[in-house]
Amino acid sequence: MQGLMQFHPLMISSAIEFAALYHGDTEVVSRRVEGDIHRSNYATINRRAKQVAQALDALGLAQSARVGTLAWNGYRHFELYYGVSGSGRVLHTLNPRLHPEQLAWIVNHAEDEVLAFDMSFLPLVKAVASKLPTVKHFIALCDAAQLPADSGIPNLQSYEAWLAPNGGDYTWPVFDENLAAGLCYTSGTTGHPKGVLYSHRSSMLHALASAATDVIGICSRDTVLPVVPMFHVNAWGLPYLMPMVGAKVVFPGAALDGKSIYELFESEGVTMSAGVPTVWQMLLAYMDANQLKLSTMKRTVIGGSACPPAMLDAFRDRYGVTVNHAWGMTEMSPLGTFGTLKGTQLHASADAQRATLLKQGRAVFGVDMKIVDGEGHELPRDGVAAGDLMVRGSWIIEQYYRGEGGSILDADGYFSTGDVATLDADGFMQITDRSKDVIKSGGEWISSIDVENIAMAHPAVAMAACIGVRHPKWDERPMLVVVKKPNVEVSAQDILHFYEGKIAKWQIPDAVQFVDAIPLGATGKMQKTKLREMFKEFTLSA
Ligand code: AMP
Repeated sequence: MQGLMQFHPLMISSAIEFAALYHGDTEVVSRRVEGDIHRSNYATINRRAKQVAQALDALGLAQSARVGTLAWNGYRHFELYYGVSGSGRVLHTLNPRLHPEQLAWIVNHAEDEVLAFDMSFLPLVKAVASKLPTVKHFIALCDAAQLPADSGIPNLQSYEAWLAPNGGDYTWPVFDENLAAGLCYTSGTTGHPKGVLYSHRSSMLHALASAATDVIGICSRDTVLPVVPMFHVNAWGLPYLMPMVGAKVVFPGAALDGKSIYELFESEGVTMSAGVPTVWQMLLAYMDANQLKLSTMKRTVIGGSACPPAMLDAFRDRYGVTVNHAWGMTEMSPLGTFGTLKGTQLHASADAQRATLLKQGRAVFGVDMKIVDGEGHELPRDGVAAGDLMVRGSWIIEQYYRGEGGSILDADGYFSTGDVATLDADGFMQITDRSKDVIKSGGEWISSIDVENIAMAHPAVAMAACIGVRHPKWDERPMLVVVKKPNVEVSAQDILHFYEGKIAKWQIPDAVQFVDAIPLGATGKMQKTKLREMFKEFTLSA
């Protein structure tokens, strides 16, 4: 017997429609790339998102066509989130920090038909426009008056001129909730990045689950400033969750330095924020140096990389701000675990509570987790045994875009995260190592293999391994370990110069160490764990 309840597909557009109806005058404030502060509200965002949908219809864009965005956190990007996905197209958020070649590769792989970009990325778009054959429409996120007369970009239009002919008299369509809504590429360990294709259903279930009090738990009385970029896993789902609960929104634009963030926190009465440790490092340094206090901030979510213990202490002890340590992945929309204490832990000693909160967080309903040994056998949830962390759930990847990488789930439907972790009986997960060969610097991935391949092309290098080493500001930075060819002279500087122009500047290693040999395993593979162990005390200076 089937249940006798209604079925309504989960549509992303329902979040903004709801916010417009019941929180229409709730503000959406943005620091624009132009530098000024712009004020909007949910009613206006919904109307303008509908204008975006109409503008896409006018271009004749088919269902599931990809619309790329190269933009910071701001109201126009927010409108595109809804206008693109809400009308049945796919919002493809691009990471502007990538090397232009890599960016072009991703746009071509996704076959984006429209590219909407902030004016600060005009030089970048100019440099790659001729290499993007599928992009037929370039939209600059600005007023008509700001559009340069001769941009060199074909068919360039300003966003405002593009929207203007459309009145916003539009009803959000309802379609299959499993249709693609968003696309985000993640740097893989091998060669090219891979696309993660979110559906309406997965994004809405993720938002509903993250609304729980023990999870992100924001509400209509909150003012939320997402520091995490909208090009990083949909700013951790906040653009969907904030309108669902009617929270006031503050978008920081391109200014992510400590001073700019602090000023917005204070001037807009921000109560909750979210971002990677590097931005909090900058905010804490600025507040410490200027002896400032936070008057409205209550809570911040820190994830993307491990939250350093001193950061949790500083926020709590000096600023009265609760830190929730969270963990997730692009492949998980991204939420996997979230750090809040359970009732039974409230009476534990301060040290024990701190140790618990420094773990990567606690299981969230909707995400099944297990840890396994090398043979795939499940290990106990005892907080001691460490194994490969596997996840499964309704907002977790089934396969990469266009089937890249083939079948990625185990026999029980679990996805391997590439993180090595412990799990305990309360659901707390702690990362102890990483089995994937990547480095995360300031929240951005660097592929060790790409770095090694370039080094191997240097005439004096016999073998090269790239590993992450600790860094006080960026958490991790790449270091190259090199075995020289016999009887050749080469300096660290020579090798570092060799990288120029080949990868983005921030992906170039910070240091080169010469060794006689790199440890190899039985199959001839470089043993990175041994190398990481060898250099574990090595810390780069800021
Ligand atoms: P991304 O797909 O860019 O979001 O990166 C996901 C990966 O970042 C995870 O698999 C972890 O390796 C790492 N990561 C995310 N959050 C944390 C955290 N709180 N602590 C340590 N590593 C993290």
